Amino acid sequence: MQHIYIRELMSPSVKSVDASATLDAVIRLMHNHVYSCMVITENHKPVGIITERDMIKVLSELLVMCPTRRFYVSDFMSSPPVCINEDATLYEALVITQARNIRHLPVVNAEEELVGVLTYADMARAHFNAIEKQRDIIEHQINERTRELIEANEELKALSLQDSLLGIGNRRSMEVDVQFTHVNALRYKRTYSLGLLDVDYFKKYNDHYGHQCGDEALRMVVDAVKSTVRSSDRLYRYGGEELLLLLPEAPLQAAVKVCERALQKLFAKGLPHAASPYQAVTLSAGVAGVDGRQKCTWEAVVAEADKWLYEAKGQGRNRVCSAAQAQRQVESL
Ligand code: GH3
Ligand code: MG
Ligand code: MG
Repeated sequence: MQHIYIRELMSPSVKSVDASATLDAVIRLMHNHVYSCMVITENHKPVGIITERDMIKVLSELLVMCPTRRFYVSDFMSSPPVCINEDATLYEALVITQARNIRHLPVVNAEEELVGVLTYADMARAHFNAIEKQRDIIEHQINERTRELIEANEELKALSLQDSLLGIGNRRSMEVDVQFTHVNALRYKRTYSLGLLDVDYFKKYNDHYGHQCGDEALRMVVDAVKSTVRSSDRLYRYGGEELLLLLPEAPLQAAVKVCERALQKLFAKGLPHAASPYQAVTLSAGVAGVDGRQKCTWEAVVAEADKWLYEAKGQGRNRVCSAAQAQRQVESL
C-alpha cells in the first residue's frame, strides 16, 4: 500500500504558546479560535501540550476554589448539538464532522432519542477497516479475474491455429490438415507426402547461447524452410524444435528434394552453432509419402516420417532420409 506521510497531513500553522504564557491567555486563545489543543514551546521545541482534557482538570480545580458559585451546564454547552441518526452511514458521518469541524456526534434514533455517541476515533477506525475490507474485496476480485483471464487465454489458445512463437500452424491445426489431406488422398487416389524436420543439437544450442537465442534461431530455421517451399506446401510446428512440412500432391521423391533444398538453404545461411560438429544450425529430416493406394492412417504416415528422421539422426544429422533414398542405396549395392 502507498504510504501517506505525516508532513502531508499535518497543519503547518501550528498553534503554540511559550511556556511563560498565562493560563487565561491560553484559554482565551483556545476558546476564540476553537482550538482543541495548544502546544507549549521553548525555543521552538515542544515542551508540553494543553488539550481540552487538561482544561477539564483546570476547571475542576477552579470550581473547587469558588464553592459558593453554582455553574449550570446549560450555560456553557453547544446547542443545539449536531446529531446523527443511527441509520446514517459512516460516509455521511464523516462528511458532517469534516464540514463542521466537530469530533463528537450524539447518535439518535427515529424518535430523536439519544442511543449512542460517535467519536472521531470511532470513525477513523471504521474508515480504516472499510478500506482494508475493500482491499480484500479488490484482491479477491483480481484473483478471480486473473483466473478468468487465464481460462480465457487457454480457450483462445485452443481456438488459435497458429504457433505464437514461430508464426506457422500449430500442432492442432496440423493434425486437422494432415488428417483431411490423408482422407482425401485415400478417397480420390491422390498423392501427398510429409517431412518431419528436427533441428540438430538444439539442446546444446540453448545451453550455449541461451533460450532466447534459441527462439530466434528457430524463427530463422522457419524462414529458411519457408523460402524453399511452394505456397501450397504447409509448414507446421510439430512440437518443440520439430517442424512438419505437408506437401499435397507431391510424390515421395519430390518431397525429399524439397526437404533437401530446405536443409541446404539453412546450412548455407551459416547460423553459428559452436556446439555442433557442423559449426552451424542444421536440420535433419525424415520423409514419408502416400500414393493413394495404401490403406493406412495418417498417424502411421507421420510415424514413418519419424522413423526416417531417427535414421537421419543416426547417420550423422544434417540430412534427409526416406524409403526412396533407402531404396536407392539398396539398388546401388
Ligand atoms: P538432436 O540433434 O538429436 O535432435 O538433439 P537435440 O538437442 O536437438 O534434441 P533434444 O530432444 O535432446 O532437445 C531438444 C531441445 O529443443 C530441448 C528443448 O529445450 C529445445 N526446445 C524445444 N522447443 C523450444 C523452443 O521453443 N525454444 C527454444 N529455445 N528451445 C526449444
Ligand atoms: Mg533436435
Ligand atoms: Mg526433437
